[in-house]
This record gives sequence, C-alpha cells and structure tokens, in this order.
Amino acid sequence: MTEPSKLINLIGLDRRSLEGFFLELGERTYRATQLMKWIYHKGVEDFQAMTDFSKDLRMRLDTVATLEMPVELSRDESSDGTVRWVMQTQNGNAIETVWIPDGGRNTLCISSQIGCMLNCSFCATGKQGFNGNLLTSEIIGQALHADRVLKKNWDPRGITNVVFMGMGEPLLNFDAVMGSVDVLKDDFGFGLSKRRITVSTAGVVPGIKKMCGRTDVALAISLHSPRDSVRSELVPINRKYPIANLIKVCGEYLSTLGERRSVTVEYTLMEGVNDSPEDARDLAQLLRGLKCKINLIPFNPFPSSGYSRPSSGAIEAFQSDLINSGYTTMLRKTRGEDIDAACGQLVGQVQDRTRRSERHASRDKTIGSTLNHLS
Ligand code: SAH
Repeated sequence: MTEPSKLINLIGLDRRSLEGFFLELGERTYRATQLMKWIYHKGVEDFQAMTDFSKDLRMRLDTVATLEMPVELSRDESSDGTVRWVMQTQNGNAIETVWIPDGGRNTLCISSQIGCMLNCSFCATGKQGFNGNLLTSEIIGQALHADRVLKKNWDPRGITNVVFMGMGEPLLNFDAVMGSVDVLKDDFGFGLSKRRITVSTAGVVPGIKKMCGRTDVALAISLHSPRDSVRSELVPINRKYPIANLIKVCGEYLSTLGERRSVTVEYTLMEGVNDSPEDARDLAQLLRGLKCKINLIPFNPFPSSGYSRPSSGAIEAFQSDLINSGYTTMLRKTRGEDIDAACGQLVGQVQDRTRRSERHASRDKTIGSTLNHLS
C-alpha cells in the first residue's frame, strides 16, 4: 500500500497544475478539465466513479493521488437560514465556514487561516490565537463541501458568492488564497465571476500591492475608524500600515481593474469608540478620493470583549450621515447570531501556538459558550 504522505491531493489544484500532473502521468492535458468537472460540477468523491477515465487510469489515480477535504464536525442552522459548519483540518484543528442565504444570493464566508495573527481587539477569532495557514485544498474544500450540501438539501444552484471573511487574514496566506481564487473562478471549478469573490483584509498593504496584476476580485478593507490613534487600538496592524497608506494602495489596486469597480469599506460600529457624528464626518472626508461603498456592521458581542453595539438610533444616524455625504452605505444585517456565526464570532477550535487564548480567557473565567462549542 502507498503511504498517504506520498499521495498528491488534487482538491484545490488549479487547472494548469492539474494539466502538469496528468502530463507527468503520461496522459493528455484535457484530463484536467474532465477531472475538475467530476469534482466540482458532479460532486464525485472518488476516482472509481469517473467513468470517462479508463480503468487503468482510475487505478493509477488511486495509487498516486487523493481527493482529501476538511471533515465536517458539526453543522448548525440558524433561525434566519444561516448555516455554520465546523470542519476539521488535516492537522486536527477546527475551522468555520458560514453560508448566508440573502435575497437570491448564496454567499459563503470562508476561512483562510487557523485562527488569526492580527489580534484585532474586537474580534473573537483573534482572541483564539493562531495555528497556521490553511492549504488551498482546505480553502477550496470548505467551498466544495458547502456547495455539495447546499445543492443536495437547499438550492440546486449551490454557492453564488464567496467572501474571505471567515477566520484569518487572507492576505497573510496569499498564495493559497490566490490559488483557491483561481479554482473559484475557473469555469470547470465554481465558475464564479470576479465580482462575486471578495477578499477582505485588515489592512495588509503589501498583500494588496501583490494583488495588483495577480487578480481582479473584489477587495474589502476592514477600516473601523478614520483616525490612526483609534484604529491602531482596534486593528494593531495599523501601526505598521497606517490609514493613509491603506487608502492609497486601495486606489492603486482599483486602477488595475476596469471601470465601475469599487472597494468595500467595512466599518464595525462600537458604542463610544467609533460611532460619533465626528467619526462619520471624518470618515466621509477620508474616503473622498476613493471609489468605495461602505458596509456598516453593528458590533457582534462575544464574552469579555469589552465592547458593545450602539443603539439602533445611533447606527441609523451614522448611516444617514454617510448617505448624506454621498456614499452608498449598507447596514449589514446581523445573521446567524443565535449560532455564533456572525462576523467576528468565528472561533473554530484552534490549538493556539501564541497562547493568546489563555490570556484572554483568564480575563473572564466564565468565558461562555463561544469558546466551548466543541468541548
Ligand atoms: N482578516 C480579514 C477577514 C476577516 S473579515 C479582515 O479583517 O478583513 C471579518 C469582518 O468582521 C472584518 O471586517 C472584521 O473587522 C469584522 N468583525 C470582526 N469582529 C467583529 C465583531 N465582533 N462584530 C462585528 N464585526 C466584526
């Protein structure tokens, strides 16, 4: 029997890599698209079911390759239709993936890392610490698993949009994320258009620079304050890449795309922190030169976060100020809150190498359900 470690996992490989793989096997390159159709369109899980491959090829695939995916550990459905999966990675950690059905769109929110290094003060994922990057197969595996479950149980169209807004900072796992974007876009993969894939970043400026020329998907930035002093507290990476640099590089990325593209500015509203009329005014001023849409996210609480959500009156006032300044400003509905699947509540179960989770937990011994899902 072949050792599992010698098997090459074909899940998540882009078309060109698969073509190379088949050439090495002495096969023609069109086998790559045949294989992709089996995996991504027909949902087939093993080589023996790929009936347009000869018996001999199927046997050889079994000895040299595998189709390994993250394993579903649990699936919760929210009263609003949101579905949250916890899936196990190859190294035994757990990551989260969330499906958000909304007005005809099936948006999948996927994780790019196991935990997160950035330690944003208001995000539960950051409090969990960090244990490494996901492989492309684990990123695509989340989408593939959700797509199959969706098609089988809820909607034959499967997923229609993907946002890299789950656990982790996608631009700190650049190559794997871009590799997965290639499969998401490929007609023989998920066939999603560039506008239906969004990479969201806390502000990794060099990562946005690297996107220029490499990809054309939608970009979202997690801004949360127009002031460096406040933003550095909320999003510590701001100390390295301050707001002005971030806004500038967004413009550079947009200039590599066609007309009518814009950046999404995410802004989590926290009471008394970034929700004042002055904040709205300064935000409007700051974004003047950038083609953008603003997405307001009312803060989603988690145990011992130390922040709270502003009143609905304050949230509405903030939104109106921005609309009056001429910005398309959406208020993101909070989804999946009853199953802890809302923004900033995704924690999976991370074997924390940074020991940050211990420090956070010691602030509050009754840390509650968020961290105890799987225990
Ligand atoms: N690291 C990337 C991807 C995570 S996206 C990024 O920062 O963009 C998750 C989004 O939810 C980000 O905009 C993040 O700032 C926001 N968020 C995190 N914690 C939150 C919370 N508790 N309530 C509301 N939004 C939160």
